[in-house]
Amino acid sequence: MTSDCSDAATSDGVPLAVRSAVRLSVKPVVGEYPRTQAMPVTGPLIDAYGRVHSDLRISVTDRCNLRCVYCMPEDGMTFLAREDLLSFEEIARVARVARGLGVTSVRLTGGEPLVRKGLVDLVAMIAEVGFDDIAMTTNGVHLAAHAEALRAAGLARVNISCDSLRPDRFGEIRRRGHLATVLDAMVAAEAAGLTPLKVNVVLLRGRNDDEILDFAAFARDSGRLVRFIEFMPLDAQGQWDRDQLVPGREVFETINARWPLTPLDDPSRIAPAERFGFVDATGEIGLISSVTEPFCGTCNRLRLTAEGSVRNCLFSDDEMSVRDVVRGGGRDEEIVTLLRRAVWSKFPGHAINEVNFLAPRRSMSMIGG
Ligand code: SAM
Ligand code: SF4
Repeated sequence: MTSDCSDAATSDGVPLAVRSAVRLSVKPVVGEYPRTQAMPVTGPLIDAYGRVHSDLRISVTDRCNLRCVYCMPEDGMTFLAREDLLSFEEIARVARVARGLGVTSVRLTGGEPLVRKGLVDLVAMIAEVGFDDIAMTTNGVHLAAHAEALRAAGLARVNISCDSLRPDRFGEIRRRGHLATVLDAMVAAEAAGLTPLKVNVVLLRGRNDDEILDFAAFARDSGRLVRFIEFMPLDAQGQWDRDQLVPGREVFETINARWPLTPLDDPSRIAPAERFGFVDATGEIGLISSVTEPFCGTCNRLRLTAEGSVRNCLFSDDEMSVRDVVRGGGRDEEIVTLLRRAVWSKFPGHAINEVNFLAPRRSMSMIGG
C-alpha cells in the first residue's frame, strides 16, 4: 500500500496513485476461506467460511423520528407493537451470552435508538457485561440532551448521520429535523467524550453528490471522520437502483484530486470503511463501498433485531427468534446454540451484484443498520 503520487496509469486507465491508494485489491475475497466441515460447539462464533464473529449490532427499536428518503417512505410505515420488542433485560441477557462466545463489541442502532425511552439504562446494563467497545449510530436529533448520561453509563462513542451541510437540503433528504440540531449534537458528543466521532453520509446521485468536497472540507476543518456510505437496496420503498448510488471510488477520486489522501492502516482489515487521511490536514475520510466493493470476506457482524431475531447479514432473510427461546423459558445454552447456528448458516456474501439478487424483505430500519 502506498500513497504514491506518480502519473503512471494502470491498464484500465486509472492513475496508479488512485489504484494503489484504494485498499480493495488486498481484501480477501469471499470463498478464499476454507469451508470447514461441522459447526463447532466450543470456541468463538465462527461461520462455515472461517469468519469469526465478534461484533453484535443491536437494534433497540424500528421506530424513528426522521424519514430519510433512502430509508423510509414519508408515510405508511408500520411499526412493531411495544410488547413485541425485546425488553432491556432480554437484550442484556442475549448480549451477555454473546460476550461469552467472544463478542467484544456492541453497536446500538435502529430505527433511531434514542426514541426508545430509558436507553441510558440499557447502555448501563450492557456496559456491566463488559465489552471492549460500546457504540451507537444515531441521527443526532435527541443526542445533545443525553450525551453526558450516555457517556457516564458506558457508551464509548457515536456515529452521527448527516447527509447534507445545507439546511434546506438536509430537510429534503431527511424530511424531518434540522441540520443545526445535528451539528449541535456533534459538539455535545465530543464535549461528553463520545469520541472518536464519526459522521455518516449516504450519497445519492443528483441529490447531494455535489457536496463531496464540502464534506471533505468539513472533515478537514473539524478533525472528524466523515464516512461516505453507498446507497444500498435496503430502503423500505424498494426504489433502490444502481444509478442512484455514488461509488466510493468516485468519492476518493474527487477528494484526492483536490486534497491528496493517504491510506490509513487498518491492520485488522475488519472495519467496513477504508480510511484515508489528508496529506496536509487533520480529519479523515472513510469509504463504505458495500455495493461496488463488498467487504463480505471479512465480515464479523451479527445482528439482533428489535423484536429479538438473530440475523447474520443485512441481506439475508433468514432469521432465528431468540425471543421465542427467551420467552419460552430457554436456558442460556439454548441461546448459545441459536447464536452458533445463526452464524454458521451465513452466506459467503450479499450477492447484490448477481443478476438474480433480490432485495431483502425487511428494510434497513426494521433490521437495524
Ligand atoms: N437512525 C440512526 C441513523 O440514521 O443514524 C441509526 C439507524 S440507520 C438505519 C443506520 C445507518 O444506516 C445510517 O447512517 C443511515 O444513513 C444508513 N442507511 C439507512 N438506509 C440506508 C440505505 N438504504 N443505504 C445505505 N445506508 C443506509
Ligand atoms: Fe431514521 Fe436512521 Fe432511517 Fe433516517 S436512516 S429514517 S434517521 S432510521
